[in-house]
Amino acid sequence: FDGVIAIDGPSGSGKSSVSRRLATELGAACLDTGAMYRAVTLAVMRSGVSLSDTATIMKVIEGTRFEFGTNPADRYTRIDDVLVDADIRGPEVTGQVSAVSAVPEVRKYLITAQREIIAAAEHGIVVEGRDIGEVVAPDADLKIYLTADPAERARRRSSQDGSDLAATAADIKRRDTADAKTTRPHDAAPGAVVVDTTHLDLDQVLTALHELIAH
Ligand code: C5P
Repeated sequence: FDGVIAIDGPSGSGKSSVSRRLATELGAACLDTGAMYRAVTLAVMRSGVSLSDTATIMKVIEGTRFEFGTNPADRYTRIDDVLVDADIRGPEVTGQVSAVSAVPEVRKYLITAQREIIAAAEHGIVVEGRDIGEVVAPDADLKIYLTADPAERARRRSSQDGSDLAATAADIKRRDTADAKTTRPHDAAPGAVVVDTTHLDLDQVLTALHELIAH
């Protein structure tokens, strides 16, 4: 396999688990673009720069070394050589990431970085996010829009990270609304195949995706 597969969808749709397993089974790389937005958000938060100060935000980002592991067996995120995977998924970053992601210069910077990572992948790559099929890789060989009922998405997220169900549901709703201004978490990119995972387990989703790849 040496193609590009775009997997878009809202939070809790199963993007991360599905992408990682699909990449493993295809022998491909895998890129979590949400981790990139989260890492940049953490760096900006640590710097204390105001979110309205775009020029300084970009100086902070350009002066920081970000590394994103694309091996599905060993995904990692580093900021200036330090692993930050737990920090970027904590409530502080989750609370701010939509706002940082809405800054056009930040998106431009990360989209360029994402395209470079995709171009460098030698054995194909599964790329997950919210704007991959439409903006980052519109020529992807296969575009999937993974979705699930909001209640099911909240249930998955809270069982994944042990967070309170009601708080998670409220947070998912808030991010769906905020992200809809910059990306399209509510509907599929042109040419994307919609896979509703509300009533599917991981194995069933993978079976469906392998069928789509084979055709
Ligand atoms: O997928 P995840 O929940 O980790 O994404 C975190 C946030 O990053 C999203 O809520 C969204 O604001 C932003 N994001 C984005 N475009 C992407 C991936 C993530 O704007 N391709």
